[in-house]
Amino acid sequence: MKKLHSLVLIILLSLLAFSNFIMPVDDSYVTSSFAEFRSTGDTAHFHGGVDFSTFLKEGIPIKAIYDGYLARIEINNTIYGNVVVIQHPNGYKSLYAHLSMFSSKIQSIVDDLISEYGNSNIIVEFPENEIKFSQGEVVAYSGKTGEAVQPHCHLEIRNSKETMIFDPLDFIKVAPLNGEIIIKEIVIDGKKQEFVNGKTYEFSGVFPHLEINSYLQVNKNIIGLKEIKLYFSNKLVYHILFDEIPYEEIDKPYTVYSEESIAAGYIYKAYYKLYPEKTGYVVKANNFPTLNLNIDFFPVTLELKDPWGRVKTFNFNLKRGD
Ligand SMILES: [Zn+2]
Repeated sequence: MKKLHSLVLIILLSLLAFSNFIMPVDDSYVTSSFAEFRSTGDTAHFHGGVDFSTFLKEGIPIKAIYDGYLARIEINNTIYGNVVVIQHPNGYKSLYAHLSMFSSKIQSIVDDLISEYGNSNIIVEFPENEIKFSQGEVVAYSGKTGEAVQPHCHLEIRNSKETMIFDPLDFIKVAPLNGEIIIKEIVIDGKKQEFVNGKTYEFSGVFPHLEINSYLQVNKNIIGLKEIKLYFSNKLVYHILFDEIPYEEIDKPYTVYSEESIAAGYIYKAYYKLYPEKTGYVVKANNFPTLNLNIDFFPVTLELKDPWGRVKTFNFNLKRGD
């Protein structure tokens, strides 16, 4: 009975979270999605949150997405820069990064810390309910501290223990961007080729090693995909879903991205690996071990979903070469 109660509570809390979290920046839009490949900082990693535009400006107010209290601040983190973390009563934490300045409630504490410790990496945890924020209240101001190339707001949603990181777009309603899902290139057994829908490609070996350079194209910007489903002869063989990532896997992007992926500064070129090599949490189905590929020719379907749930389907054929 207790188990059932906690399950009901979890479902209830999830619904509350979805309906109540708001965008951290007024009139903003998404510029990067959850789990995109990143190679900046000390090691390659998944993008742990969503980037909201601050219109390329520093000093834009960053607001609490829900009521809560200040759990932590970080100053001069190599990747995140200056950070605010808020604990919400519904069990989630929100993290705001690359900040230029903190809310007036916090800035005097930060000034004291900097005068004492200088410009080193400072982390301070705060007691429960000491400094409270209500939903929509300014927690900080946008900047480009840490690995940010341009000023923006990086938002993460984590569980209280910070062992899991969730896609904020599963919690916050944000208007979809006008764009198109594109497969720029297909890589088969290490060979890069232009992708043409309906084309027959050759592969060799026990099974084809497929990779795709794919994304949602929004004007000149590229947004990472939410979900990829790969079918051979209409049978699901591989499924990647970027819904949540255990914190301990955040620096293991090569479970789903190929080693040729680049994401540094303004360059973004990520290849999704559509075959099992390393296991990872975001790989939801892997039917390669049970695959019986005795046939020499079969149709392939790729179902690609963007962060707003829009799906585009691509079809091609694979033929066993010599
Ligand atoms: Zn970011």
